Amino acid sequence: MSKLSKLGIMGGTFDPIHYGHLVTAEGARFTFGLDQVLFMPSGRPPHKKDAQVSDAEHRYMMTVLATLTNPHFEVSRLEIDRSGTSYTIDTLRALQEQYGPGTELYFITGADAIFDIATWKDCDECLALAHFVAATRPGFSLDHLPASTRQWVARHKERFHILQVPAMAISSTEIRERVRAGSSIRYLVPEPVEHYIRRQRLYVQALPQSRERCTK
Ligand code: NAP
Repeated sequence: MSKLSKLGIMGGTFDPIHYGHLVTAEGARFTFGLDQVLFMPSGRPPHKKDAQVSDAEHRYMMTVLATLTNPHFEVSRLEIDRSGTSYTIDTLRALQEQYGPGTELYFITGADAIFDIATWKDCDECLALAHFVAATRPGFSLDHLPASTRQWVARHKERFHILQVPAMAISSTEIRERVRAGSSIRYLVPEPVEHYIRRQRLYVQALPQSRERCTK
């Protein structure tokens, strides 16, 4: 493992991954001068214990397919292989241990996902370990955040960044709905991801769906 000075961690459920995520990761890499972006599909997202999420192996496989052609992108199995709830703090501690203090961490995710960051497990330590990059559509303002989150962000503003990404209009929810309705998802996801979704018959029915492990 070569020494990195700045590592991006792209946290998400990726159910499925789409061009909005890829544009966000590339935008963050460029904006913050990151050496690499490590995509981190959630194993068991903390706020979705009772909600249905597709099999982690499918989400991991689609993330690998989507990122293959970018030499600055890698995919991690850290959260998928860790048992129990996927807390961001555990991931950041593990990565700090792995990469050492010389590597600055940037945790990138959707602004909506960090709406309630002030309630995340050990959130102050999360910010001590990593910069946070909240990806939003243009026009998003911190005023959209709940007051508790705004106060918390104000206390940590030097480690908290907003990244405006026009392609954030694409959403995983919409892609799942389109597949279910038989509509096209072409140009919303990379072609290999589209093929994978069709071949594995993902999202054909409302979740919960087949828990079969993928064979490819
Ligand atoms: P989510 O609630 O499914 O997503 C909320 C919004 O953010 C959606 O619009 C989603 O769009 C967008 N989004 C999610 N990840 C994104 C990304 N990497 N780039 C751009 N937009 C993104 O969020 P989630 O995916 O489950 O969680 C996001 C990350 O926060 C994960 O790494 C999760 O583990 C972490 N998290 C940690 C805690 C904790 O430690 N307590 C609590 C909550 C979340 P799409 O649906 O199109 O992706």
